[in-house]
Amino acid sequence: MKNLLPQGVALQGERGIAFVIAGPSGVGKSSVISALLSRDPKLTFSVSATTRPRRPEEVHGRDYYFVSEAEFDRLIAEGALLEWTVYQGHRYGTPKSEVIDRLKRGLDVVLNVEVRGAKAIRTANLGFPVVLIFLVPPSWEELVRRVRRRGTESEEALAERLRIAREELQHIPEFDYLVVNDDLEEAVARVEAIIRAERMRIVQCA
Ligand code: ADP
Ligand code: 5GP
Repeated sequence: MKNLLPQGVALQGERGIAFVIAGPSGVGKSSVISALLSRDPKLTFSVSATTRPRRPEEVHGRDYYFVSEAEFDRLIAEGALLEWTVYQGHRYGTPKSEVIDRLKRGLDVVLNVEVRGAKAIRTANLGFPVVLIFLVPPSWEELVRRVRRRGTESEEALAERLRIAREELQHIPEFDYLVVNDDLEEAVARVEAIIRAERMRIVQCA
């Protein structure tokens, strides 16, 4: 196919792409991402650093790098984070090492970050395309059911997460795509469709 394209034209998928998935806590970001990763070897997950305590089913280095406050301070001081934020009293940040080298190697990177982080990754000027995907639940009631069912939050923390969720929904217009996570399989297929289309985008190259 390559020698059919005019000079200076390429497919976006020949290089790495950053796919950022945001959306309210409990909507299913982690569930969708883990299904995507198991099916597409070109996708890699950007493991964030966090000072939040580990949930029982979470694995250090797979879900997050669980670090102390002092270690997080060091990451900031060393300039090792692409962006970071405070969410519910805990710090979360994207290590540059999880993103930049992989994009340079032509791999795609999937990030699970909150809304401010998503916008920060877009404005970081990585030199690679950044696609912002917002995941929403089919209804507010269903979101509440899912966070409750996950059972990882106290009642107080849950109420705070829902308050943040309401606010996050206001930022939908700043995203490129909206995906409803009603049926998990369907939602995964929708995100896969976005990934495939973005890889087929025609871009100018030097
Ligand atoms: P997030 O990463 O966005 O906080 P999770 O992936 O942890 O959300 O999902 C929250 C809860 O909702 C989990 O218990 C998960 O199994 C469940 N869940 C995810 N997607 C769906 C879906 N489409 N239908 C029903 N439950 C879902
Ligand atoms: P949780 O505690 O449920 O794992 O995550 C809480 C929120 O932090 C979610 O919205 C998640 O997307 C976000 N988050 C996780 N890692 C990062 C990160 O590295 N940067 C930013 N900005 N947000 C993150």
